[in-house]
Amino acid sequence: MTSSFSNLSLAEPLMRAVAEMGYESMTPIQAQAIPVVLAGQDVMGAAQTGTGKTAAFSLPLLQRMLKHENSSTSPARHPVRALVLLPTRELADQVAQQVKLYAKHTSLRSTVVFGGIDMKPQTVELKKGVEILVATPGRLLDHIEAKNAVLNQVEYVVLDEADRMLDIGFLPDLQRILSYLPKQRTTLLFSATFSPEIKRLASSYLQNPVTIEVARPNETASTVEQHFYSVSDDDKRRALKQILRQRGLKQAFVFVNSKLGCARLARSLEREGLNTTALHGDKSQDERLKSLAAFKAGEVDLLVATDVAARGLDIKDVPAVFNFDIPFNAEDYVHRIGRTGRAGASGLAVSFASGGNDVRLVADIEKLIKRKIELEPVEFEEDRPRGRINDGRRHWRDEGEAGDARDVLDQPRERNGEARFGRSTRPHRAPAAPRDPFFEKPYESPEREAAPSWEAAAKATPARGISNNIKSKRKVPALFKSTEAQPN
Ligand code: AMP
Repeated sequence: MTSSFSNLSLAEPLMRAVAEMGYESMTPIQAQAIPVVLAGQDVMGAAQTGTGKTAAFSLPLLQRMLKHENSSTSPARHPVRALVLLPTRELADQVAQQVKLYAKHTSLRSTVVFGGIDMKPQTVELKKGVEILVATPGRLLDHIEAKNAVLNQVEYVVLDEADRMLDIGFLPDLQRILSYLPKQRTTLLFSATFSPEIKRLASSYLQNPVTIEVARPNETASTVEQHFYSVSDDDKRRALKQILRQRGLKQAFVFVNSKLGCARLARSLEREGLNTTALHGDKSQDERLKSLAAFKAGEVDLLVATDVAARGLDIKDVPAVFNFDIPFNAEDYVHRIGRTGRAGASGLAVSFASGGNDVRLVADIEKLIKRKIELEPVEFEEDRPRGRINDGRRHWRDEGEAGDARDVLDQPRERNGEARFGRSTRPHRAPAAPRDPFFEKPYESPEREAAPSWEAAAKATPARGISNNIKSKRKVPALFKSTEAQPN
């Protein structure tokens, strides 16, 4: 199969847009999906963000909608014909930006609606008439209820990141939305996994779909040094700070499983003197952008995030990623640590397992990445002079299945929170548009004079038994030489 776009017989305005994007050849998902969608068949695609799947569905849908193109100012001449549903505002925003680029030389109109911001500007756009509507489910339902969005002429539906939508608890919303659509339509479903729930969704809403699978990046990069430490919940923060210092790290991402956990952890780290910011679903778009910008500028050293909030934010090559909680979904482990060690650069991924449910979660990761995972104990330096070694292994075994139910209990709250979030009535500022190009850029170590906050915090807290002159007992890897060379 040739992978040149020129073999697709796409209309000139679309080919021009592709050329302007600088795409030379199709990605595997594009080569497989575009002809199928052009032929009018339903698709069940296993592909993740980063594979080029947005163009894989946008280009053929735009091609098929060109027959409706018109320059009339009447909203009635621009009914919604394609609906793209995504789980998070960031993804919706990202996809909508791309759709606009692919459609820029056509008269087809597109817009995006997602929660957490004022409905009014979205309503104005909807009322003008748009052919392509990108949306998160909750906010779309709000617009349907307010009669701002009429979906009875929809011909194409894309359920993107469908597994994530189900994870968040959007199934009832999806079912409602799909019930408003004409039965005669093309439906495309994209999901990282084909779980039984996804298969059930597909069998209810897709007709004889063509299944397309592209290689899933389940392999973790060999350039990422991965460690799993067995450490109690109470000791995780201490372990985090020790590793940051020992490794001479300047910045890191810290992933947690729940919004509540995210806010709590960021607060405690901040209290302990670490420059920290939190990125979770309860933050407004504006706050999230500020957090990210602060991280990039080196004003904060740690970015504590949930998967849902971080998903779709294309920030790569962070020096280190910490899994403060083992992710509930093994594939999130791959996503999380994929943010470090890109393009040949070395990276560090550290995961803290605290027993109980984590045993199963680590086993799931082991299966997915096809690597044996060794759980290492954490040796706390301040404990050493007193001769006590924190034997993480014993803790791991002793906790057995009892575990710490807190994070597990937090998960439904996170899910409900995200599901409800689309209908938040809290006042928010309008989203910063156009999209911050920061999202597209790889991580760059910020220019900074000062040492990271954990160095200062260690010096400021001798009472905790942390030596001012801690030297790593381990060989410090030759990572981040450029940043290590900076003055302390
Ligand atoms: P997506 O998986 O759709 O989020 O796309 C990930 C990134 O790949 C986006 O920045 C796209 O602009 C880019 N991309 C999509 N298709 C191609 C292509 N054929 N060649 C090069 N880059 C592409």
